Amino acid sequence: MTPIINLKTEYRINPLGIDITSPRFSWQLDTDRNGAKQTAYHILCASSEAKLTVESADLWDSDKVDSDQSVHVYYDGEDLKSRQRVYWKVIVWDETGESSESDNAWFEMGLLDANDWKADWIYGMLVGGHQTSTPSPYFRKNFWMTQQIESARLYVTALGLVDCSVNGQAITDDLFVPGWTDYNERIQYKTYDVTDALSSGENVIGVLVGDGWAVGKVGMHYRQTYADRPSLLAQLEIKLADGSTQVIVSDDSWQYQYGAMLQADIIHGEAYDARLEFDGWDKAGFDDAGWLTAQIRDDIDAPIVALNGPTVKRFEELKPISEPKVIRTIIGQRGIFDLGQNMVGYVRLKGSAPAGTTVTLKFAEVLDSEGELYLTNLRGARVTDHYTFKGDGEEIWEPKFAFHGFRYVELISYPGEITRDTITGVVVHSDMEQTGDFTSSDEMLNQLQHNILWGQKGNFVDVPTDCPQRDERLGWTGDIQVFAETAAYNMDVAGFMTKWMKDVQDSQSPEGMVPAVVPRVIDLVDGGPAWADAVVICAWQMYQAYGDTGILADNYPAMKKFMDFLVAVSPGYIRCLPEFEGWPGFGDWLSINAPTPRDLIGTAFLAYDANLMSKIATILGHDDDAEAYKKLFADTKDAFANRFLVGSTVKAGDSTPSPLRQNIESADSISQGNLKVVELETVDSKIFNLNLFKPSQTAYVLALHFDLLPEDMRPIATDELIADIKLRNGHLSTGFVGSPYLPHVLSENGKLDEAYTLLYQKSWPSWLYAVTQGATTIWERWDGYTEDNGFQDPEMNSFNHYAYGAIGTWMYRKIAGINIDEDQPGYKHSIIKPQPGGGLTKATGIIKTMYGNLRSSWTQENGTFTFDVMIPPNTSATVHLPANDDSTITLDGQSVSGAVHELDAGKYQFVVS
Ligand code: BGC
Repeated sequence: MTPIINLKTEYRINPLGIDITSPRFSWQLDTDRNGAKQTAYHILCASSEAKLTVESADLWDSDKVDSDQSVHVYYDGEDLKSRQRVYWKVIVWDETGESSESDNAWFEMGLLDANDWKADWIYGMLVGGHQTSTPSPYFRKNFWMTQQIESARLYVTALGLVDCSVNGQAITDDLFVPGWTDYNERIQYKTYDVTDALSSGENVIGVLVGDGWAVGKVGMHYRQTYADRPSLLAQLEIKLADGSTQVIVSDDSWQYQYGAMLQADIIHGEAYDARLEFDGWDKAGFDDAGWLTAQIRDDIDAPIVALNGPTVKRFEELKPISEPKVIRTIIGQRGIFDLGQNMVGYVRLKGSAPAGTTVTLKFAEVLDSEGELYLTNLRGARVTDHYTFKGDGEEIWEPKFAFHGFRYVELISYPGEITRDTITGVVVHSDMEQTGDFTSSDEMLNQLQHNILWGQKGNFVDVPTDCPQRDERLGWTGDIQVFAETAAYNMDVAGFMTKWMKDVQDSQSPEGMVPAVVPRVIDLVDGGPAWADAVVICAWQMYQAYGDTGILADNYPAMKKFMDFLVAVSPGYIRCLPEFEGWPGFGDWLSINAPTPRDLIGTAFLAYDANLMSKIATILGHDDDAEAYKKLFADTKDAFANRFLVGSTVKAGDSTPSPLRQNIESADSISQGNLKVVELETVDSKIFNLNLFKPSQTAYVLALHFDLLPEDMRPIATDELIADIKLRNGHLSTGFVGSPYLPHVLSENGKLDEAYTLLYQKSWPSWLYAVTQGATTIWERWDGYTEDNGFQDPEMNSFNHYAYGAIGTWMYRKIAGINIDEDQPGYKHSIIKPQPGGGLTKATGIIKTMYGNLRSSWTQENGTFTFDVMIPPNTSATVHLPANDDSTITLDGQSVSGAVHELDAGKYQFVVS
């Protein structure tokens, strides 16, 4: 018997209110038996649990299918209808021919048709301004129930964010619902089961609607990007015992009032006056005299779609790691707390003070040299919460609609005793299970991994953002393009990224342009190389990590349109020609004194996209496209050689830059910040001929990693890259674009030791420099703070930016040895190839794959390499041992030969001496 567990529908266990009409099922075999494998499955779907048998399954009976597929099996039964609950289970036959049956699972459809919505959008009269926010409306609706309730669902969304209750009870621990989309294109709703919250007699729904992304400030822009004021759409459907349905919808029978939530802006912060709370406003028996009639608006036409992915939730709580520093002055006292971790969320305040006392909370990632909060890098974000006490004994308060990125907190004007207990940090992020772990014998590498993971948590708050603290927090396409692969090692980001890829589709221009920021907040522009390319690269990375061809298929039209756009703006396959009118991109953003020509980066990415597209088209069965993209790759590779390599006929920089192009130096100067640019010796290149530019590390990295060089040039290019690293005293110079690939290029071209040396570099620019400075997240810049120059330019200096955390992939792949097989992705077949080095004596990588746990763990002592591998059930792996002809090798105690071994699922131990 092999227990069958973890039944998921569209990546979630028992999802409520989805609108995917052919959802996909996945399950796992729960065993560590060697060779464990599925040989057949049989799925049953029924309208009730009672009918979930082979005899009576009324929605779908797949029959026994001889197949080892246990992930992403499409539902192929009766058409699914709005509100339909489908129960399902699976019977699995293993390699011994024995069958096992899973427990029951279910999924429930949301509202599939626009006509299902009977509710009106409602709002309150106050309109927020561009600069300030107005109080948040409290909406309430009371109604009577006389009959027994069978079940009840609340379908709810807002332009803004909702905090919902039924009869005063919170109905969910979700935060920041309905999430961030381009609300002009798509508004998500969420479904809640509120059966248990209802009772007979008078019932009340209460919904507080904050400004959120729709109305509040987003990015560096003003407020009200998508909507002028918070608005609510809610529909409560109650199935009664007699089979009828009672429906309560938002309309002008709802009432609203403004109260304690004086201001709720994600970026600026929240202001709450507890004296203005309405006692019992969301419960029966409330005296609603003085409440106003909700206004109806009919100007919202965007499609309302189900929120199929994860929501944001609270995850951890952090207590200050030391006693707060309390500073007393004649105007009062203030306390500075250190939570020990640069985190994202907010603080819960606990204290008591006379009614009307207002305290202020401020937040910073770092302290300045005086030990005060360093706030300058927050730019135009006020990042301030205010709480006014009602004077009612101990009061506990936390914001509902704001989050901050911080390690240090300052509490101002609190009259009571300030202790460690006064605040608690509440960590929030999208609901993604941590699926990856990397540890080694080197504490600094472990801290680096910690920092990468925390950078991910803090910047995966509904949308993958650049940073969580300043007035930006935008879905920069380049940043996630760089980090997506590492993100999928660390956490289950499948649902999160599936949703964001839809945002990418929404943001695309009719010509195929993909902007720099998604969801779109600014005018539609081309994001440029390495940014816009996220439409192809991120989808590919998710396919690799989860074996999900659906995400490729769903985004294929957008990718194709993007490729058409690229070809149209790339005469002779050169993207970002200097004379071309168009956004040439951000270059190798934040590189260190090593600019790379924009057209080189652009053309390299065009080639890479074409190469990926030919693979994607093949996977999806679009063979003609596959051929065309293969040719595009070859043509672009030729064009690259003709323009940038030694012997080239046209030289980069020969042409006259367009007027727009002449302006991009401003982007370069932001990128360099206050870095002192010094003339460096450069290698005498036998590879590149770049005219005005010197070959940068990124130029070598892209040419090697994207396969743009003739075979015989590769070793020379690798040597020149190493020579450049040497000229810089063993340092990298790469920015966002080159850094993720740099260590792979070294280790894949025979320079493993050099890759380790670079990873171990502790002076800046390097991955470990920030670790030596006590960083607990990944910094935006290599030189965010240096002993010589202090803080970098505060206009661009975040201490929580995940992009450089892309080194995580190298640690999982090369140190722990966990590699996805491109041809059988999602860990159906893995390539386990640890490459020990750098004096490490042990390393372990664990990935919770969709099939179960994959573990690769080694120790190296006194010439003996001991290697424990665990391969998930229903998958296989090729293990490459770091052995040579003289090695003696044992597998589970038996002598074996050869460094390469094909293994089925199970646990194995190799010893190489
Ligand atoms: C963001 C980056 C982003 C960049 C574009 C910055 O302001 O923080 O991470 O990719 O702009 O160059």
